Amino acid sequence: MYCINCGTFIKEGHSYCTNCGRKRVDIKPLEKEIVIEKIIEKPYEKKASDKVIYILVSVTIIISIFLIIIANSI
Ligand SMILES: [Zn+2]
Repeated sequence: MYCINCGTFIKEGHSYCTNCGRKRVDIKPLEKEIVIEKIIEKPYEKKASDKVIYILVSVTIIISIFLIIIANSI
C-alpha cells in the first residue's frame, strides 16, 4: 500500500505514512490510479498557464486602448 500523499510505501499494519504522517487510505487499484493522476496533474503548471492567458488578455486590451487613442488623435 502506497501513501496517497507522498507515494511512500506503507507496510501492512501501519495506519500512518512513515514519511509524511498522512493516514493510510485503502483504495481500489482503479481509484488509486485516479488519485495518482490527480497528484501528477500539476496544479502549479495549470495556474501558470492561467496567468499567461490573463497577461495576454491584459496586453491585448492595453494595445486596443492605445490603438483607439491613436486613431482618435489622428
Ligand atoms: Zn506519505
